[in-house]
Amino acid sequence: MQIKEFELIGKRLFSEGLVGGNFGNMSLKTAEGFWITKSGSYLDEPGELKFVSNEGVFESGASSEWRVHHQSYNSTGKGAIVHAHPGYSVAASFYYDEIIPEDSEGKMLCPLIPVVTGEPGTDLLARNVSEALRMSPVVIAKGHGTFSMGKDLKEAYLLTSIVEHSCKIIYLMGGFGGLSL
Ligand SMILES: [Zn+2]
Repeated sequence: MQIKEFELIGKRLFSEGLVGGNFGNMSLKTAEGFWITKSGSYLDEPGELKFVSNEGVFESGASSEWRVHHQSYNSTGKGAIVHAHPGYSVAASFYYDEIIPEDSEGKMLCPLIPVVTGEPGTDLLARNVSEALRMSPVVIAKGHGTFSMGKDLKEAYLLTSIVEHSCKIIYLMGGFGGLSL
């Protein structure tokens, strides 16, 4: 079990302000399913992880967003997901249906970031996020947060950081109502 990697990534998410309080969640795929953080856990001190099988059988106490992770792994086959609540990304999602980064890293690594709808914990959110993750490694759930997918937690975290940076740059350029993309 890679609990140390969960803790390390959780600490980075906190130190960059990409999550606050006991929000957000992370998961790591295995052959039989995936390990996910507990509902209400602090990502820098995740404690014990919960397992969800490929068939969608979940241990009680698993993050309430396990459906999004389950459908996303089924849809893409990739290895890890980070869900965070970064401020600029959430704010941008109220203004744009898709976000086109202006900065070089964003252009290279996530040139078109889809914004999807669906209430937290619902099948609709799981379906919309998993479909969008086939086109882009990061999506933003409108008014809620980012879902980033990578080969491991580090890559998923880096994508979260890049998207937040791209949204911040757009804001600093006068976006979010000021700049039409
Ligand atoms: Zn959330």
